[in-house]
Parts: sequence; C-alpha cells; structure tokens
Amino acid sequence: MTVRLVVARPLPGTVGESRRVVHVFPVAVETTPERLTAYCGAAFGPGELELLERPVGMPCVNCLRRAPSPGSAEQPAIER
Ligand SMILES: [Zn+2]
Repeated sequence: MTVRLVVARPLPGTVGESRRVVHVFPVAVETTPERLTAYCGAAFGPGELELLERPVGMPCVNCLRRAPSPGSAEQPAIER
C-alpha cells in the first residue's frame, strides 16, 4: 500500500482558533477515505479540513512527533 502524507488543518469555525493546528495525515493513495485520521489521532470528515500545500502556521506537536521525518527511508517524507 502506498501512503502519502497530507498536511491540513481544521477549517475556521469547525474548532476553536487555538486548535487550528496543522495535522499530518497518512493517506493511502489507492483510496479516497471519508474521514482522515491524523497521526495524533484527531479525525476529520468531509468539509472540515483545509488542505495545505506545505506546513504553515502552528503544527500539531503530536503529529510531528509521530510522522516519519523527511529523509526517513521507510516512508515518504512530507511532500511539498
Ligand atoms: Zn495532529
């Protein structure tokens, strides 16, 4: 299974501003999941996420800790 990493944050109004951190989501390329679950365990449904081209703003510390770091040979790094 090929997994790519997606960075996204909750859309304004879906959560409090202080919780609008940038999460990292492992997404299987072959599927289009209804819900995305971040490395930290936060789950979001359709229309709740703002997909980002690159990490901006406040990152989710738990996601950063659990996501494979750039340069990891086993999993793809965060793209763009
Ligand atoms: Zn997170």
